[in-house]
Amino acid sequence: MVTGVTAGVDPRPLVGVFALQGDFAKHREAWERAGARTREVRSEADFAGLDALSLPGGESTTMLRLLGVLKLRAPFEAAVARLPVFATCAGAILLGKGATHLPASPLGVIDVDVLRNAYGRQIDSFEAPVDSPVFGGDAPLIGVFIRAPRFTRVGPGVEVIARLGDEPVGVRDGRHVALAFHPELTDDARPFRWFLAHVVATASPARAQGRAAAR
Ligand code: GLN
Repeated sequence: MVTGVTAGVDPRPLVGVFALQGDFAKHREAWERAGARTREVRSEADFAGLDALSLPGGESTTMLRLLGVLKLRAPFEAAVARLPVFATCAGAILLGKGATHLPASPLGVIDVDVLRNAYGRQIDSFEAPVDSPVFGGDAPLIGVFIRAPRFTRVGPGVEVIARLGDEPVGVRDGRHVALAFHPELTDDARPFRWFLAHVVATASPARAQGRAAAR
């Protein structure tokens, strides 16, 4: 007998890539390389049925302004509250606390203070090896830092998952992950594969069961 689960359910998780602004196209490519399906998220209806949300880099001021203008702040907050979220750079600013010169408050779902543009201006952007054993493999990641934020305080419940020297550049609080750099700009899929396997799969048991049944 063909059950509802085995008939026609795509086993790949569906990652919604927040697409109001920023490098969402690169996030989509990275998730698809890592084995996920993707959907660009621009309206309230686009949040339905997602297994995870991906917040790209770009300009946090513009993202927050557009959330207000498009009346998406409430559905966005609700989606962030229930879903695993993978955020890079400007996305990390949205998830953290305390960033200044923003048109609206950040969400504050990860207990870190964030200082925007902390490594200087666009011209000061740089690449450097990032130590992140949690993502697997021996080689460091190449961290691409573009007008990157700094995590200036990491709260007690927050795990540091990536470091540049002694500095935290990646943090995780349960289902919420924020990186100061841009893994989507390299072809190293480790952070994306890790998130799908260790955050998304464990955070959505219904989805994991569906996948197991569909095999
Ligand atoms: N400096 C940007 C901001 O404040 C973030 C830069 C980025 O996402 N690469 O939003």
